[in-house]
Amino acid sequence: MAIESATCILCRRLRQMNNRGLLVKGRYVCPECEARIIVLSRDDPDYDYYKLGLKKIWYWPSA
Ligand SMILES: [Zn+2]
Repeated sequence: MAIESATCILCRRLRQMNNRGLLVKGRYVCPECEARIIVLSRDDPDYDYYKLGLKKIWYWPSA
């Protein structure tokens, strides 16, 4: 699967060179958001935003 250009699905940041980030089903999540998600707790005001963003990835229609 070739990724020509990718923007982070959560913060819309362009994928940087040498920036591996996270690819889930072809959707890119930048390292900063990835790190954010890992430490995110339910008390965090951003929790819902990230959770919804991830839902877009996890439940992305494959067809
Ligand atoms: Zn991001």
